[in-house]
Amino acid sequence: MISLNRKLPDVRDAWCKKEKYSQNLPAASIIICFHNEAWSTLIRTVHSVLNRSPRELIKEIILFDDYSTMKHLKSNLEDYIRKLPKVILVRSARREGLIRARMKAIEYSTGSVLVFLDSHCECIKGWLEPLLDRIAKDPKTVVSPAVDLINDNTFQYTPQRANDLRIGGFNWNLKFIWMLMPYKTQLKRLNPAAPIKTPTISGGLFAIDKEFFEKIGLYDEELDTWGGENLELSFKTWMCGGNLEIVPCSHVGHVFRKKIPYDKEDASLNRNLLRVAEVWMDDYKKYFLERIGNPRIYLKDVSDRKKLRDDLNCKSFQWYLNNVYPQLEIPDKYVASGIIYNIGQRLCLDMSIFDGDIKFLVQALPCHYGGGNQYWIYTKQGHIKRDEYCLEYTGKVLQIFLCDGSFDHQRWLYNNMTRHIKHVKTKKCLQISKYANQNSDFDFTITVDQCASPSLPLQQWAMQRFISERLDPILYTH
Ligand code: UDP
Ligand code: MN
Repeated sequence: MISLNRKLPDVRDAWCKKEKYSQNLPAASIIICFHNEAWSTLIRTVHSVLNRSPRELIKEIILFDDYSTMKHLKSNLEDYIRKLPKVILVRSARREGLIRARMKAIEYSTGSVLVFLDSHCECIKGWLEPLLDRIAKDPKTVVSPAVDLINDNTFQYTPQRANDLRIGGFNWNLKFIWMLMPYKTQLKRLNPAAPIKTPTISGGLFAIDKEFFEKIGLYDEELDTWGGENLELSFKTWMCGGNLEIVPCSHVGHVFRKKIPYDKEDASLNRNLLRVAEVWMDDYKKYFLERIGNPRIYLKDVSDRKKLRDDLNCKSFQWYLNNVYPQLEIPDKYVASGIIYNIGQRLCLDMSIFDGDIKFLVQALPCHYGGGNQYWIYTKQGHIKRDEYCLEYTGKVLQIFLCDGSFDHQRWLYNNMTRHIKHVKTKKCLQISKYANQNSDFDFTITVDQCASPSLPLQQWAMQRFISERLDPILYTH
């Protein structure tokens, strides 16, 4: 019911409308890869580019069909785009996955700048000029727009406000995360809408000088289906002499979906990430491996990619962490990491997080030694956590919540002698409780109860890779 050619408000910060961009901006090739995209979102993406970009700045819009099977993407699509200027449709003879699809699409481009968009985006007035302007000033700058939210049910458009801007990071699962910018950086900024340096980009929407992209080796073409390529690009942009920025004056909406539709089980994401880690992360690769349970993953040879890194004389990952992403906590500073094992019941503390319909469950389950939901870290501050989530006891409920350094409910004290995990605020102990279920079997839950003395096996826990000397007074003084 929403027009394929709908109007959207100009959501830019007032400052952006006064900005003057170079008169000689380079023209861009817009690359949109798709696999089985819905009709309306795909067509709306194309119209929004055509309607809201200066004509002379667009060389062509390349629609690259990554072997879609949906009927509406066949002759209907060909007929529709025939009427539109500058649009080229390229069909792949096989499913390439998003990363190789982009590389194939580049071969059809004639612009000196490449702009990548997902097939479910909408560009806002003035989106293109500020991106091209940054690249014109320094072709080694890779830029991403402010990615706004298009609701996947209502298609309502919610812009990111300049004063609540997020930048890109990642956690040790090598999952991309949005983060607030450091307070110090915020203070130093001339204007909330000025370009901001970012450790990583989310990767679907960005602009890059074609020559620079080629120089840094495009993408690793062994990356399959989806994911990991954004970290590869982010790491090497920084490590090989470039800059990575978010340009808040450029607004592009994206339909965020609830879950990844590609087969997660096929391990291709982890294989992609491991390739990226192997080539770019030096010794820090081990933290990713530990986080995913040190699986055996067969990797094809990466020596070409390593050679690329050597030939370009790129800096170390340590340099990247120190200079670009100092906020990232390094897991070697933790008191313990790995499983948390109950001695009485021989079960593991397990938390599942379903990203989509957010569900956070703390459970006691048989140990599977595969990292994942049973991988924990125990910090000097007393947090039992994974990635951004902490184990928290409110006094009533035991749950998982976003970590908050100042929040007492999330602090636990592990005693390596009694093997108690004591909740600092209530002085109660984490334990496994048994209860009869409907089938008259027993189920186990995790509760918080009075600490028993001498201690009970159900309240005794073993923490993997526990480093006792690190459990120090910081816990009390923090
Ligand atoms: N895509 C593709 N081939 C694939 C997987 C994805 O061409 O095998 C396209 C997809 O249609 C979309 C873009 O790549 O335009 C990014 O994928 P998606 O939107 O699923 O990723 P997300 O936005 O969730 O990161
Ligand atoms: Mn997308």
